[in-house]
Amino acid sequence: MTRPVLVVGGGPAGLSAAHALASLGQSVVLVEKENRLGGAPILSGYAKLVPSGQWAKDAIGSMVTRVETNKLIEIRKGTTVKTFDGKPGEFRATLANGTTVEAGSAILCTGFTHFDSVNKPEWGFGTFPDVVTTTQVEQMISSGKGVRCPSDSRKPERVAILLCVGSRDRQIGREWCSKICCTVSANLAMEIREELPGCHVYIYYMDIRTFGLYEGDYYWRSQEEFKVKYIKARIAEVTSNGEKLIVKGEDTLVKRPITIPFDMVVHAIGMDPNVDNMLISSVFDVKLQRHGHVERASTYSAMGGTSRAGVFVAGAAIGPETIDDSIAQGQAAALAALGAARSAVAAAAE
Ligand SMILES: Cc1cc2nc3c(=O)[nH]c(=O)nc-3n(C[C@H](O)[C@H](O)[C@H](O)COP(=O)(O)OP(=O)(O)OC[C@H]3O[C@@H](n4cnc5c(N)ncnc54)[C@H](O)[C@@H]3O)c2cc1C
Ligand code: SF4
Repeated sequence: MTRPVLVVGGGPAGLSAAHALASLGQSVVLVEKENRLGGAPILSGYAKLVPSGQWAKDAIGSMVTRVETNKLIEIRKGTTVKTFDGKPGEFRATLANGTTVEAGSAILCTGFTHFDSVNKPEWGFGTFPDVVTTTQVEQMISSGKGVRCPSDSRKPERVAILLCVGSRDRQIGREWCSKICCTVSANLAMEIREELPGCHVYIYYMDIRTFGLYEGDYYWRSQEEFKVKYIKARIAEVTSNGEKLIVKGEDTLVKRPITIPFDMVVHAIGMDPNVDNMLISSVFDVKLQRHGHVERASTYSAMGGTSRAGVFVAGAAIGPETIDDSIAQGQAAALAALGAARSAVAAAAE
């Protein structure tokens, strides 16, 4: 008989993989290190998602409910995998809570870690309370409290959103593009303008990467309908004159220094590799690629495969990824993991 498939991580990718497997009649053990399922969109309190416009708590919340109510899916929250031995069809995992799980195959859906803006000190985070991150603004909106300056709860009249914070920055060892933050920032800018129509919102950018259909729906719409202003700039520093935050830099279109005052500055933070990846790599004996994401065996023929037979990967564990693509990869990995577990059982029976 095929053993359960072990799914590690209960974010969009893991929820999708677990549900896909259960839909095919396959039992699953889902291990999540936090005490709550849903991954970054739930754990970090995202507001309305790109591109659906649905609240994260509803969209991802329904994925959580669907998994939590499925009898074929056994959920182990608040724990991690400590050891993982064996071969396809006959793996055995021990969990940090002391239990053992027998598994036919495994899927790593362990996602990413948000960039910590204190690693970009010259842009004011950690020094000035009104310098915040996109996740903090998402939380302000999703909690219903609205967008307010943390220092004194006033409504900001001028907001700057700085793109590529912790992405495309070789000086701090992060040369990748985090893929979704241009679109998320344009979306947040529109949400701020909707809530506070008198507030001026500026987006500082190197290039705009609202890829595919997002160009019209976010980049152009934010300017044409919501009057969001875009400045192509190289930012030098974020300081304060005691009353306002001051963003200093160079307008790279006209090649002139610019100094503009704001009430709130928002860092559009990027997606780092999961801080657990070294440990995950050693426990599951899978290779990491050069930036520290889980390495895929192949892009085409075995999309969800890793360097270890029977162990698969999906979602932002592979690199910066959108929710839609994480969900699709979760489903693809589910099929591959099921195939691997069943073929191993069939081979053993011959
Ligand atoms: C500010 C911001 C806003 C965003 N907004 C959008 C948006 O509107 N639309 C969109 O498409 N994308 C958005 N994204 C991207 C989105 O967050 C990711 O695409 C998505 O979260 C990836 O899902 P995942 O399941 O692969 O990873 P995650 O969401 O990171 O989930 C991974 C899960 O694995 C768990 N885990 C981690 N390590 C372990 C371990 N060792 N053992 C067990 N469990 C573990 C984690 O606790 C977590 O629950 C946004 C990103 C940011 C930074
Ligand atoms: S998506 Fe945009 S903000 Fe995010 S890293 Fe890429 S270019 Fe920068």
